[in-house]
Amino acid sequence: STLDVSVEPCADAGSLLERLDHGAAAILLPEAARLKPAMLAGLKASLSIQPDWSELPVIALTPPDLSPFLEEELRALPGLVLLEQPVTPRTLQSCLRAALRARQRQYRLRDRLDEARRSNAQLHASVQAKDEFLAVLAHELRNPLGAITAAVRVLASSAERPEQFALARDVIARQSDQMRRLLEDLLDVTAVTSRPRSLQRKPQSMRPLIGAAIAAVRTALDNKGHTLQVEQPATSAQVNVDGARISQVLVNLLTNAIKYTPDGGRIALSAEADRAGFVVRIRDNGIGIAPDALESIFGMFAQLAEARERANGGFGIGLALARGIAELHDGSLIARSDGPGRGSEFALTLPIAGFATDDDARDRTSAPDAAIVPDAATATAASPGRRILLVDDNEDSVQALCAVLELNRHQVHCASSGVDALRIAVEQSPEIAILDIGMPDMDGYELARRLRGQVAGGLVLIALTGWSQPNDRRRALDAGFDHHLTKPVDFDQLENLMRDVTSR
Ligand code: ADP
Repeated sequence: STLDVSVEPCADAGSLLERLDHGAAAILLPEAARLKPAMLAGLKASLSIQPDWSELPVIALTPPDLSPFLEEELRALPGLVLLEQPVTPRTLQSCLRAALRARQRQYRLRDRLDEARRSNAQLHASVQAKDEFLAVLAHELRNPLGAITAAVRVLASSAERPEQFALARDVIARQSDQMRRLLEDLLDVTAVTSRPRSLQRKPQSMRPLIGAAIAAVRTALDNKGHTLQVEQPATSAQVNVDGARISQVLVNLLTNAIKYTPDGGRIALSAEADRAGFVVRIRDNGIGIAPDALESIFGMFAQLAEARERANGGFGIGLALARGIAELHDGSLIARSDGPGRGSEFALTLPIAGFATDDDARDRTSAPDAAIVPDAATATAASPGRRILLVDDNEDSVQALCAVLELNRHQVHCASSGVDALRIAVEQSPEIAILDIGMPDMDGYELARRLRGQVAGGLVLIALTGWSQPNDRRRALDAGFDHHLTKPVDFDQLENLMRDVTSR
């Protein structure tokens, strides 16, 4: 045939219908007038249940004296073209060609529909995950916010009761710290899961990191009356890690052990170096984990549904983040449990980077608890008062940060716009300028450039923004900033920076 198609003759209804089940581009009925009623009925039935995209072309050749009854029956077939005999081969060919083209267009439509359905389903799932995520996030933020709101009310009426003042202040400090950690976790997860974060790795002993993690959870541990048994490593093995990140992982594992073990439980931390690497095991005799959940607990959104129901449920991102960090260090984090009610064990394994020399030995004997936790008091004491220009269009932010800096004996000048800032900079010649980025009249980047041009000498520029992705950091550094800090600012970090930048 000149129409490059394969033709399959079907002698009866059965073979035609079976053939249709495997798919066909068109049906040609060369002697439509002689079709048996059963065949016609079967054909009609199977053509009537075609999917949306499909209208299988049916070309029927009929004699001029076709009975009206049969004609009506034939016309009931969807996709029908009636050709009255005699038909020239040319007519038949062109008719078939048109039918095949139509069919091909239908196939393309089918593929597009399939594709659209698939991506629609994916979209739907991710929208749903995001909705759930936002619901839990809102819930998580509401708790600390509620506590802070209550504390503020106490503050407002506590002039004559100083002990209440202290209480409210502590609540605010704790809860806002929790919110800050939550936000950091969220941003961390994005960073860890979407691109390898630039870790600040250096070879070090695990001892101080373990010590710092234990110090961080000590209060929570005591509050629940747990005992903690610690076996520090008897080895000089060192790991090449970002200390703060690994401490964060250990804090996470310890916090979970504390949380998911009924009061008065036993928690054990042991560390050792073996052939697999440096392994820290954290074991508890708590609620345990069902075998089929041992993997899923490391999923990002896996916990959401349950977390919402659990009274003191967490956020369900801790373990995802912890494993992400372990893997970024070419290590691993795995869970083991004999089942519900039978305790859990988490093993963090990190590759060994080498062994400490004698010079490093004091590392092992130094008080571990103080190693990582920054000591705000000494940082403050060591930092001499500086002339600081603080620029932010948010009045509350400016005043709060100004108060903290003044407490640390800095001399602070505040501006709420770029224009003000430039004027004050000329009058006061500050040593350090801390700038918000998003401001209405002139953004922080522009202001930084102008300040650089205007103020002679080594003005230190610090960007303080709510944007913390690597891109934002790079953009700030490109614009001439020396440092990039994110809101809410970590005061210890800021004060350390004040001390470091001014002593260079
Ligand atoms: P969160 O504790 O905030 O829910 P995580 O990611 O830290 O989130 O933990 C995920 C889940 O793993 C927890 O909700 C809990 O069900 C389970 N889990 C984690 N640690 C333990 C543990 N030590 N014992 C029992 N279950 C645990």
